[in-house]
Formats: sequence, C-alpha cells, structure tokens
Amino acid sequence: MISASDARDLRARFHGELLAPGDAGYDAARAVFNAMIDRRPGLIAKCGNADDVVEAVAFARERGILVSIRCTGHNIGGFAVCDDGLVIDLSRMRGIAVDAGASTVRVEAGCNWGDVADALQPHGLAVPGGFVSVTGVSGLTLGGGLGWLVRKYGLSLDNLLSADVVLADGRRVTASATANDDLFWAIRGGGGNFGVVTTFEFQAHPVGTVVAGIVLHPAAKAAEAIRTWRDFDARSPEANTQGALLFHFPEDPSGPPPLVGRPVVGLGGVYAGPIEDGEALLRPLREYGPPLADLFQPMPYSAAQRMADFAFPAGLLGYWKSGYLAALSDRAIDVIADFFARVPSKQTVVVIEHNGDGAMERVAEGATAFGHRGWPYNFVVTSAWKDPADTERNILWTRELFAAMQPYLANGVYVNYLGADEGADRVLAAYGPEKHARLAALKRKYDPENLFRMNQNIAPAAVVRSAT
Ligand SMILES: Cc1cc2nc3c(=O)[nH]c(=O)nc-3n(C[C@H](O)[C@H](O)[C@H](O)COP(=O)(O)OP(=O)(O)OC[C@H]3O[C@@H](n4cnc5c(N)ncnc54)[C@H](O)[C@@H]3O)c2cc1C
Repeated sequence: MISASDARDLRARFHGELLAPGDAGYDAARAVFNAMIDRRPGLIAKCGNADDVVEAVAFARERGILVSIRCTGHNIGGFAVCDDGLVIDLSRMRGIAVDAGASTVRVEAGCNWGDVADALQPHGLAVPGGFVSVTGVSGLTLGGGLGWLVRKYGLSLDNLLSADVVLADGRRVTASATANDDLFWAIRGGGGNFGVVTTFEFQAHPVGTVVAGIVLHPAAKAAEAIRTWRDFDARSPEANTQGALLFHFPEDPSGPPPLVGRPVVGLGGVYAGPIEDGEALLRPLREYGPPLADLFQPMPYSAAQRMADFAFPAGLLGYWKSGYLAALSDRAIDVIADFFARVPSKQTVVVIEHNGDGAMERVAEGATAFGHRGWPYNFVVTSAWKDPADTERNILWTRELFAAMQPYLANGVYVNYLGADEGADRVLAAYGPEKHARLAALKRKYDPENLFRMNQNIAPAAVVRSAT
C-alpha cells in the first residue's frame, strides 16, 4: 500500500499528474482495454517526461512498491495496472519527431500507432505498426509488432534503431546496436521486463498510398472462402499482408442492411506497393464469390492503419487464446469454421494472420529476443462479450476451440497475445529455452530484484555459487 505521506513525497518532485483512489479521473485511469481487469492501484503516476519516469521508478524501488507500466492499457492480461502499487502511466508522453531526410522517427512511449501513422503520412512514410491504430507503440514493439507491413518491412521491433530506457536502478541509458547492445537485444521481444522505455527511434519506409480493405462473405461459406484466401495469399508478393477474420458485422444501423449484425468471414489487408499492381493482384480475391461486400480501395496508409479498429472496441470482457501454425490445413480451417458457427458472443473475432514468407524471416532468429520467426500463420481467438453472466461459456468455448486446434498448432506462441492465466510454460514457449535462458541472465543484470514483474515475466536467472 502507498501511504499518503509517501504520495506527498513523490508529488513534490513530479511534474506530471498523480491520481490516488477517490481523485477525479482515477477510475478512468485504471480502466484498461479488457474489462475483465478491475485493479485498484495505490497511485497512478501520469508521467510528463522521462525525468518523471526516473522519479517514479526510484519511488517504487526505494519503498518496495509493486510497479506496473502503462502505455495504452491494451494488453489482454491487463498488466498495465496493478492492485495497491504504482502505475507508471506514459499516456501523456505523446511527442513525435520526424526526420524526413533520414526516414527516421522518434516516438515518445505513450503514443499509439495511429499517432505514428498520422505523423509520417505527410512525408509518404510509415513504420510497421499493428493491425489497429489504438494499440500502444510501447508494448506492441517490445513484444514484437505484427501488422499490415510485416511481410514487406518486418516486425515493429525489426525497425527499432534505438530506445531510451530507465533501468530499475534509476539509470537512464540508450539501447541500440552500438550502445548496451545486450539490452537492445533483450527489449526487442522481451517486453517490459528490462526497464521503462521513454522514447523509441524507428526506421521509417516509403509507403504513402496503399490498396487496403476487406471482402466479406457469409460465415456459412467460411471454410471455402478461407481456403481460397489461403491459396491466393500464399502465392502473393511481400507487399501484400492479409488476414482472414470471422466476426459479426457490428449492429450499427448506419451499416449496409445486408451486413448489419450478420456473421461473416472477412478476407482483407494491405497491399503496400504501386496501386495498379495492387489492384491487379487483388482482383481474383475481390471477384471470388462474389462477396457480400468489397471494401477494398486505395487509401492513405494512415487510414488503413485504422480500418480494423471497429472490430475491437475497448471496454468489453475479453479472453484470448493464440498459437502459430506451420501450415493452414483444410482440416484446421474446418475446425475454425465449425466452432465459429456456435460462437457464444457477437463481439468475438477469430483471426488467422498470414505474417510469414517475407521480411520477418529474413532477420536471423538469434538477432533479437523475439521467438519463432519461421511460422507463417498466427491463429488468434479474441473472445469478447458484454455481460458478466456470459463469462463462463465464452471462456469455455474459447478453450474448447483452442484445444481442438492443438493438432494443427506449431510450437510456440506470440508473447503479446498471451493472457494473464497462461503460466510460465507458455512464456517459455514464446521464446524457446535458449532465448529464455539468455533473457533470464540479462534480467539478472538489468533488474535483479524483478521490479518490473507485472508482465509476461522473465524471472532473473539464479546466481550459481560454487560450493568452495
Ligand atoms: C485490440 C487489440 C489489438 C491488437 N493488435 C495487435 C497487432 O495488430 N499486432 C500485435 O503485434 N499485437 C497486437 N495486440 C497485442 C498487443 O501487442 C499487446 O496487447 C501489447 O501488450 C499492447 O501494448 P500497449 O503498450 O498498448 O499496452 P499496455 O497494456 O499499456 O502495456 C502492455 C505491457 O507492455 C509493457 N510496457 C508498456 N509500455 C512500456 C514501456 N514504455 N516500457 C517498458 N514496458 C512497457 C508493460 O509490461 C505493460 O504491462 C493487440 C491487442 C489488442 C487488445
């Protein structure tokens, strides 16, 4: 617990905003994307700058207070907030500085991917972010970063040039290929285990206008549609990053009447190359069926970054399961389609991402802490529902689908899609034993007391003492 006098101590040296239970804004500041998470921090430190982060880290370390780090609060496990402890909230740190000549961008740790896309669009540039605009640059990059440019330009973390980090002992360091390179290796995949990143510097790429969108088919035809997409997508160039989604079109009366509330399979994504090439490439996918709706069109990349946001509204109850696929077999597709036909919630989205066969694989497996670059597909069940009375049956359905998919899943999982209930074995599986052991050794070096443990935690490696 954080006493009032301790809170006063921090207030005296803090430039940002401090929120304690009972303060106006406290409840909004403790809410995260997943409404299953209902934690009551002792203090929420909305940092104004990196100096505030140093003060907050020192405050927690000196008093042995539990710490969580928050960017946007999108982590499905809710690790951004903790009970009784201190939330280091970076959401006010939203500065972005573009160096168009060098095609680089410096991004403060509270930004989301929409902010970055908007800042770069006028320069015809983009950094590979996520599939939606509202996820945070911080957590997404530190765990990996799968998004619409992954096949062409790799993961978000593959485009990280440097990061400014506040370590557990309060030191401010830069991590890059030439400074603290072991830390740089660890934060590219190891999540928030190694310190609080205050600024990220990324390599940007020429992107500008893309062909992006989705075709929608009735969910009853999902198996055939997903097979068609799989065969089309497997032969497509790296400029093309597409996914298949099973979901219910939102109950939005302003939507097209044949779609509103209807279960659909969507096949969509981004072609980031010459518009004419994209139009020609995508024609067979757009003509197949024909679809209920064809929403593909040329658009600025910053608009494509937002096109899937509607499917993942914040504030619902949520439970996720995920795993990689070495191949997308007909039988695996049948399992997914069969289960979706009995999905208990209209807010649930089942996603098959095709991220592989591209830039991600060209980075050597050992170059970063991120695990499993070689698996081409990622399967993600993002269950979401409104009524707490429906929690049990939604979790059960999610687990049953995941269990039924076991014969088709590859070894390993993406750490950023893990929930809070997965356990140490799944964290180990996210990295594999070799990388996990290296991460544990670096954790001992950079955070031996495990101050940063509200995350998919890598415990510091034990010190081996000789008997003599
Ligand atoms: C709707 C939705 C869509 C998603 N889409 C994608 C996607 O397209 N691609 C993808 O790769 N992932 C995606 N994810 C997963 C996402 O990468 C993780 O949820 C990630 O943890 C979100 O990071 P955040 O900073 O937004 O969240 P937060 O919950 O704020 O942070 C998550 C964790 O990251 C760490 N952290 C955050 N900021 C810092 C920092 N500055 N320094 C050190 N540690 C920090 C902390 O451990 C924190 O608990 C999605 C998640 C959701 C809910």
